[in-house]
Amino acid sequence: MVDPSEQVVLADPAVIAGLDYWRELPIKQQPEWPDAAAVAEASKQIASFPPLVFAGEVDDLRDKLGRAAAGEAFLLQGGDCAETFAGATAEQIKNRVKTILQMAVVLTYGASMPIVKMGRMAGQFAKPRSTDTETRGDVTLPAYRGDIVNGYPFTAESRTPDPSRLVQGYHTAVSTLNLVRAFTQGGFADLRQVHSWNKGFAANPANKRYEILARDIDRAIKFMEAAGADFDELRRVDFYASHEGLLMDYERPMTRIDSRTGTPYNTSAHFLWVGERTRDLDGAHIDYFSRVRNPIGVKLGPTTSPDDMLRLIDKLDPDREPGRLTFITRMGAGKVRDALPPLLEAIKGHEATPLWVSDPMHGNGLTTSTGYKTRRFDDVVDEVKGFFEAHRAVGTHPGGIHIELTGDDVTECLGGSEHIDEADLATRYESLCDPRLNHMQSLELAFLVAEELAA
Ligand code: PEP
Ligand code: MN
Repeated sequence: MVDPSEQVVLADPAVIAGLDYWRELPIKQQPEWPDAAAVAEASKQIASFPPLVFAGEVDDLRDKLGRAAAGEAFLLQGGDCAETFAGATAEQIKNRVKTILQMAVVLTYGASMPIVKMGRMAGQFAKPRSTDTETRGDVTLPAYRGDIVNGYPFTAESRTPDPSRLVQGYHTAVSTLNLVRAFTQGGFADLRQVHSWNKGFAANPANKRYEILARDIDRAIKFMEAAGADFDELRRVDFYASHEGLLMDYERPMTRIDSRTGTPYNTSAHFLWVGERTRDLDGAHIDYFSRVRNPIGVKLGPTTSPDDMLRLIDKLDPDREPGRLTFITRMGAGKVRDALPPLLEAIKGHEATPLWVSDPMHGNGLTTSTGYKTRRFDDVVDEVKGFFEAHRAVGTHPGGIHIELTGDDVTECLGGSEHIDEADLATRYESLCDPRLNHMQSLELAFLVAEELAA
């Protein structure tokens, strides 16, 4: 007898063909690989490797994001601007996961709401760039497009796109996600460990505030244990992987047909988003992502028109499925209060309930006179506040935050209670791309967001 759970549903050939339709369309932000045969070979190899994530997990996440869109949960998405292969060490991954877990605890406790935890991790290796080349002195070379494409050092050899990096990207994502899964499922994320997540980080005001909160949580858990409560949610957390779906020579071969349903999933991450630079309605990226079952995000900058947004909804979420579509707004602190409300208003009457998430990082970049790309912590906070204000005014749900952060004590963003100033940026600036909040700034932000959510 055939076990029904073993039945394999084959995909419609038209569905499979559709997964390559993006190749006919205009595409942006792809590298100029020097050797097409080597890229084809790397893609073929990747297509033969096991998936990183499973369709069932992706479906669970979609349900949870649907709840966040309805105002019953909140998404916390955070991690590096650009992960690097060298940065995929146990220590750095652990610090980032700990930081996200701590932020999640602050938010859960402060807002009494389930927090969906998601890393910009295990695949955030490809970067869009504002120019294709970089010039230093009289030397012009290809821009750094992330470790999955080329190297950061400014030499012709390192900057030449290298297809073997696609395979290395896959393996680095695998080992990162493996460790993340071990941390979050294997006891480390047990809520009884709330204090230990704080250990190893330099003493600072945000840590102190966290310790006080952790003490309250400890007491509540001891009470529940004494009363006989014992549930799995205390011991493990579901932690989801996400990255920008940008590099099609990686994303396409990671796409697989789910044998339960015959539908395609991108198995490189649970959640993928399309960036501000590649979200053209008639372009390759939006077409490809319209055809996979994963929950999909789209970044929306301050110039987004209501019409563009509505057309994105029709293309990516024609069935108006809860959790399918997330809009990640990155307007800038000075613009969010004007640019966001018209988009929120325009949704009314379209039966669409996208999840609204604030990325308070990418609209607030600045370059110092000394040449550092940075952001002011105060601007980040102000954009988050403007995001909440806009939703309150229109009557929609502020459903999450999307943050570039690290668990390390870097000095990349200005301000916060450590008062990092322009001179401090030189002490520990490690990002190869955009500046990230450090551990303390991340915790501080979590406390502020918790206050907004509880308001
Ligand atoms: C990013 O998230 O790192 C990024 C490049 O964002 P955006 O597409 O919003 O500019
Ligand atoms: Mn970035």
